Amino acid sequence: MQIRIAGLVPESFVDGDGIRFAIFFQGCKRNCEGCHNPETHSLDGGKLIDTEEIISALKKNSLLDGITLTGGEPFLQIDAANELARAAKNFGLSVWCYTGYTFEELDGDAQKLLDNVDVLIDGEFVESLRDLELIFRGSSNQRIIDVKKSREQKKIVPWALIGG
Ligand code: SF4
Repeated sequence: MQIRIAGLVPESFVDGDGIRFAIFFQGCKRNCEGCHNPETHSLDGGKLIDTEEIISALKKNSLLDGITLTGGEPFLQIDAANELARAAKNFGLSVWCYTGYTFEELDGDAQKLLDNVDVLIDGEFVESLRDLELIFRGSSNQRIIDVKKSREQKKIVPWALIGG
């Protein structure tokens, strides 16, 4: 399956917990003021590649803890995002995902992607709430959500670093 990406970071230490393969999706319609990745906004920018290319790179790196779907907006390419997420889960990797949507806004097909997401960082970037002390998120309105626990408990459960 084709995916339009802005770029790949095969070993990232800043896009979630541990060593992660970060996939920067191309395309976002939000235009948050102060967005750090404005080059990812154009829906026809970046480049098209096959998801298999990414999946075979995941297979080869035994040091990875997981993958991170980021961007850009991964939920604008749900099928490709889901294919990557499912493959990652099959390899025993965790899946983190950044989105400009809130957890509550994600319904329909988005829920199918959430089936394969462990941690969701939700909400758009709000420059007035920007805080450099925050880990893994840019502004304090964004939440680091444990998806499975939030679904089970029917309320937002923040992700907690085990042993942290
Ligand atoms: S949702 Fe993310 S990528 Fe899109 S404009 Fe906002 S900060 Fe940038």
